[in-house]
Amino acid sequence: MARPKFIFVVGGVMSSVGKGITTASIGRILLAKGLKVTAIKADPYINLDAGTMNPTEHGEVFVTEDKDETDQDIGNYERFLNTNIYSVNYMTTGRVYHTVINRERNLEYNGACVEVVPHIPEEIIRRIKKAQRTNRADVTIIEVGGTVGEYQNILFLEAARMMYTKHPEDVAFVLVSYLPIPARVGEMKTKPTQSAARTLNSAGIQVDFIIARADRELDKKRREKLATFCGIPPQRAISAPDVDVIYEVPLLLEKQKLGDQLLQRLQLRARASQSADWNKLVKRIRTATGQVNIGVVGKYFGTGDFTLADSYISVIEAVRHAAWTHGVKPKLTWIDAEVYEHHPQRVKELAQFDGIIVPGGFGTRGVEGIIKAVQFVREHGIPYLGLCYGMQLAMIEIARHRAKLKTAHTIEINDATSHPIIHVNPFQQKNIRANNYGGTMRLGAYPCSLKKGTQAYAAYRQTLISERHRHRYEFNNAYRPILEKVGVVFSGINPDQDLVEIAEYKPHPWFVGTQFHPELKSRPLQPHPLFLGFMKASLSRRRHHVHKLSTR
Ligand code: GLN
Repeated sequence: MARPKFIFVVGGVMSSVGKGITTASIGRILLAKGLKVTAIKADPYINLDAGTMNPTEHGEVFVTEDKDETDQDIGNYERFLNTNIYSVNYMTTGRVYHTVINRERNLEYNGACVEVVPHIPEEIIRRIKKAQRTNRADVTIIEVGGTVGEYQNILFLEAARMMYTKHPEDVAFVLVSYLPIPARVGEMKTKPTQSAARTLNSAGIQVDFIIARADRELDKKRREKLATFCGIPPQRAISAPDVDVIYEVPLLLEKQKLGDQLLQRLQLRARASQSADWNKLVKRIRTATGQVNIGVVGKYFGTGDFTLADSYISVIEAVRHAAWTHGVKPKLTWIDAEVYEHHPQRVKELAQFDGIIVPGGFGTRGVEGIIKAVQFVREHGIPYLGLCYGMQLAMIEIARHRAKLKTAHTIEINDATSHPIIHVNPFQQKNIRANNYGGTMRLGAYPCSLKKGTQAYAAYRQTLISERHRHRYEFNNAYRPILEKVGVVFSGINPDQDLVEIAEYKPHPWFVGTQFHPELKSRPLQPHPLFLGFMKASLSRRRHHVHKLSTR
């Protein structure tokens, strides 16, 4: 094996311009060249993990197989690289310091003064190399969170510089930068990017490639400007205009030979050319005809589209993967459940959808509205997929309205309820009492046995599956017989702990709730079976409707 290679992806000018997608796309491009690729996220936060961050500010918490609560970009890497990414590929400033401080407490520095430099960058490098070794990667891509010029990520850049100084031929730098087009000027401006490249220079880093993110294509004049003022050959300024579908990005970058140029820079050779599956995917997306209307009922929705899309990115992507596989384009509508608390009659509007999803969530807000929505879709045969909280609240709805347990609730909201349909085990109770919240939920992959003859089994066609979790509360087994009597089927059970993992409502065409988060495992090249099942049911409802309208 050649010496391992490292690509640092850093952001310039402003955040939220697609650094994660670029990192994932570079990975996909190199993977298609037959190389073993992995991707790391280095987050500047002091938080030890993303689990304690508000998803409306930081985006979705992406849970790995091995129980880590990470940044949403890890999800992008999994989707683009079509592989599991483990905890070793995620670090935060907090984690880095935590390790260094623990080491100091254990006298592992042999009496030396422990200092920010070099000890912090050294620990960052140790983590990068460990991830490389664990993944046996030819190429390790490291996405540095934040943008250049911030105090927050300077030590990650220092680590990168140190690695480069040792082996310049093994380390490349990609700057993902934003080129604004001020409305009144009407032309693309390169100056902020030039300034970002210079800021990197002052940290001892010369960029090798610039990914020019903008509303439109980079023209020749501006490509040359970037080349001259940022010190790169013009062909290494890569145009990356906005696209409708993120999965097109690898193709867009590859058209400009980013992959070959990166290999050349890193003195690596391609081993194969395996882009057929991805090309086929993009073609399928482009040629999808028809539509499916999915409503997503939840809370958090008062904050504008942008944060919303980030908070539920895996759910959105999973719906897309399933829709494209069925040859249709998905239209997602976000529905604020709180509205149904004030205007219960408006719940009727849900009849216009082909299927309804209630995603995961925490706390009181919107809960009674969600329960009203679930009741409506259950009673009207609208396909329903409840994810985690969406399963728990569905069980509460059925307990209240079908089993006549009027006070049914989750103890997350009412711990004095006489019918705790959703409760906690004693171990979790201890965590809650001790305010021990960080990293203590039931996290990561657990097995689940499926019951034959159920919607779940029809979707997976397998008796033993494994899915990822992130929850503290769980279904109270004492209520299983009562709910079974009114039509609930517990179709997925954790075999070791006898925990409810999947619950269905039999009298309904497709009503499935999962304690786990299937969306975390959906990939464009491997859509998730449950989302496919949900999509099939939604399309069947749609056809039925269209048919009804046309024969009216
Ligand atoms: N709040 C619920 C619990 O902690 C559901 C969590 C979720 O939806 N991720 O169990």
